[in-house]
Amino acid sequence: MEDIIIRATAANAQIRAFAATTKQLVESARISHNTCPTVTAALGRLLTAGCMMGSMMKGEKDLLTLQISCDGPVKGLTVTADSKGNVKGYAIVPQVNLPANEKGKLDVGGAVGKGILSVIRDLGMKEPYAGQTEIQTGEIAEDLAYYYACSEQVPSSVSLGVLMSLDNTVREAGGFIIQVMPFAEEEVISHLEENLKKIKPITTYLAEGLSPEQILMTVLDGLDAEITDKMDTAFVCSCSREKVERTLISLGKQEMESMIEDGKEITVDCQFCRKKYIFTIEELKELLQNA
Ligand code: ZN
Repeated sequence: MEDIIIRATAANAQIRAFAATTKQLVESARISHNTCPTVTAALGRLLTAGCMMGSMMKGEKDLLTLQISCDGPVKGLTVTADSKGNVKGYAIVPQVNLPANEKGKLDVGGAVGKGILSVIRDLGMKEPYAGQTEIQTGEIAEDLAYYYACSEQVPSSVSLGVLMSLDNTVREAGGFIIQVMPFAEEEVISHLEENLKKIKPITTYLAEGLSPEQILMTVLDGLDAEITDKMDTAFVCSCSREKVERTLISLGKQEMESMIEDGKEITVDCQFCRKKYIFTIEELKELLQNA
């Protein structure tokens, strides 16, 4: 099954909701970055949030970046998503050696530790819109809910989950974001809160075979939910040899001449997808000539 993002409204647009299945894209990220299970879960949760939050933007060229800089062993995570379901990301340290937490689960909170969560939206204006909050638990879903409440004043319920198989591949991944609009009635809010108290972890629903539509209908039970949109989502990197060439040229003539003098071919690897671009001395000379 391909990964998808579902959008819904409920209670006469007093609630908006998003859900995503992200097994394939998290597995792609795991393969690209060779992440250990704990970092796969951390990056997978952030990628899942990223693709949903990206889909909330309207412009063709809008870009969302979620950045965690932290003092835990993973040191930092970056995810970038567009409005069309393309998402990519990386962890600064892809392999951390952490035992399971006291619940016997992958210790994402321990891998992240303390730090700052930044949400940056580049909507094609002069300055990107950026908000920051302190990391609360490092479990990522709670940190994003806290960000929404404090930085954007949008009460949100965020659930993100990655379930690993015994062979360390991704078995299930997905999440949802439920947001309450400022004009929501007390009755609607308390009904939603009651629903949220009863729900199971997202990975349980996914392992039971529920679709993102069914998950949203469960969370929004009794609230007149209506699915309004559905789109594909995938781990896609927009890097290319041409972009790497432009970056090399932007280093300047002196820097390029010194690389040529060193006499060794150079390898540039894309931090988002780990694709390697190799340039021989001849190719560097040619780039310099044409620059
Ligand atoms: Zn790339």
